[in-house]
Amino acid sequence: MEIAIIAHDSKKADMVQFVLKNAALLKTHTLIATGTTGGRAEQAGLTVTKMLSGPLGGDAQIAGRVAEGKTKMVLFFKDPMSSHPHEADINMLIRVCDVHNVPLATNEATAQLLLDAIALQENV
Ligand code: PGA
Repeated sequence: MEIAIIAHDSKKADMVQFVLKNAALLKTHTLIATGTTGGRAEQAGLTVTKMLSGPLGGDAQIAGRVAEGKTKMVLFFKDPMSSHPHEADINMLIRVCDVHNVPLATNEATAQLLLDAIALQENV
C-alpha cells in the first residue's frame, strides 16, 4: 500500500520517533513523503520517495496521487499552532482525502491507530 507521510517542522522529531517505532510495518509498504519529511525518514533508515517540500507543492503532489488512487493512506503530523504559507494546499489535501474516502490522520495518535489497524488486517 502506498502511504504518504507529512510532518510540519515542529512535528518532525515526533514523526521520526513514530517511523522508528513502526519501522517493521512501514518497511512492508511503499512510502512517499514531502521533501524534508522524507529526508528525515530516510535518515531514520526508511526507503521513501520524496516529493517536493510542502511549501513548494509537495502536499499538492500527494493530493494528486490520492485523487489518482495511488496513495491509499495519509499520515499528516500537522502543527495546529502555526500558520503555513501553503495552507491552501494543506486544505486541498484534506478535502481530496475526504472526496476519495482515503484514511487521513492529522495527529500522531490517529496515525498510530491507522497503522495498528493495518497490522491487525495483515495478521488475520
Ligand atoms: P516538508 O513539508 O516535509 O518539506 O517540510 C511539510 C509541509 O510543510 O507540508
